[in-house]
Amino acid sequence: MMKPTFFSFKYIAKISLFFLWASMAHLQAQDRSRPFNVVFIFVDDLGYGDLGCFGATDIKTPYIDRMAKEGMKFTDFYSASSVCSPSRAALLTGRYPQRMGINRVFFPESWTGMSPSEVTIAELLEEKNYTSGIVGKWHLGHRNEFLPLQQGFDSYFGIPYSNDMQSVVYMRGNEVANYSVNQQNTTKTYTQEALKFIEKNKDGPFFLYVAHNMPHVPIYASDDFLGTSAKGLYGDVVQELDWSVGQIVKKLESLRLLQDTLVIFSSDNGPWLVMEDHGGSAGVLREGKQFTFEGGMRVPTVAMWKGTIKPGSVCTDLATQMDWFPTFANLLDIPLPDDRSIDGRDLSGVLLGQAKRQGDDFLFFDGENLQGYRKGKWKIKKPFSGTNGSPWQMAVTAHDTLLFDLRKDPGETHNLYTEQKDMALMLFKEMEAKLKEMGPLPKSLVVIENADQSHLKYLKEKHEKQ
Ligand code: MG
Repeated sequence: MMKPTFFSFKYIAKISLFFLWASMAHLQAQDRSRPFNVVFIFVDDLGYGDLGCFGATDIKTPYIDRMAKEGMKFTDFYSASSVCSPSRAALLTGRYPQRMGINRVFFPESWTGMSPSEVTIAELLEEKNYTSGIVGKWHLGHRNEFLPLQQGFDSYFGIPYSNDMQSVVYMRGNEVANYSVNQQNTTKTYTQEALKFIEKNKDGPFFLYVAHNMPHVPIYASDDFLGTSAKGLYGDVVQELDWSVGQIVKKLESLRLLQDTLVIFSSDNGPWLVMEDHGGSAGVLREGKQFTFEGGMRVPTVAMWKGTIKPGSVCTDLATQMDWFPTFANLLDIPLPDDRSIDGRDLSGVLLGQAKRQGDDFLFFDGENLQGYRKGKWKIKKPFSGTNGSPWQMAVTAHDTLLFDLRKDPGETHNLYTEQKDMALMLFKEMEAKLKEMGPLPKSLVVIENADQSHLKYLKEKHEKQ
């Protein structure tokens, strides 16, 4: 048989087919109006060092590792806050939580919540007729006007705040579905709810936000996972979360939806280190939850989108949880709201392997106080008076101005301030200018109200009135 030569019909046909395939693949990736599904899996207080693909050896996370292997791992991905509520507000709106006055976490006594006038991802996607569902922790206000159904979601099942707060209940829609929650089954229950949502909405497009309460204290694993890890109960809990990710990916696979679905896994903030063996690990990073060191705000993040994200890719550039909002908008050709500032930057070029993220700077807020700024590889931190420590917070020693080269020193151990004073001064000026650009920020929405007005009391009164 003759080998195909350069001019042979067979050779030309093969080459043409290759170019046709390549241009179709390109067109598919470029078709900005083609709706795709989004599954956003958000876990609570998981540390940077708690996943296999981020270096953990005592916790096995094969399903999340698979997402990284078949998708993209982000090494320098930030949550906009080192605590729950502000982090969630930023994720859903693409804005620094300080713009919304959400500087702290909501409690069951809180009368306030994220303003219904904010535009959430679910509301953004309404433009393209998405069905949006949330399973799990909301924590952006639990009174009627603040609940997910009033913020663009079509369905809600879950605990409306943190699982360590009094009166833990499951809500379905706007009503309580269960007053006595067995937290041992929370991860399993959420998984079943997520699978049901996917099955029901398989014809798409859909946005499913799975916000697990675990591994936030008090931690619980179901009987099937107790004793399965080399890191005690905490490890068991994370391995059950990994199983849950596997269930969701398998469901998408069985419905042949993996090519049409962007699956993202991330954490809302760093590990709660004061909880000792019931808290996670920040790996090589410094400190954890409640602090603006890297361990508090750099979160393990992976994204998988078969046929669109190149398998095994790694993004080492700075990116943030606020970026998803403008990224979805750009991929779907939906205009951004023009009456407010969106702080996130479009990551579509990063996901498609075609361009870098625009902008490489980030502000580190602690509540209403701006404490630090990253620009490229540099991070500056303002002087800090330290904390004495409590059952809820680590003791951290006071420090003067800090300057770090995060590329060489992600653990923030070597202060370069005296060696690089000019750089420090420039970054300081830029940081202050960025804050000024944000304009006057609203007063904090989150205040601790009268404890008599607990959510449970409110719910019971509401129920009695009916
Ligand atoms: Mg959290």
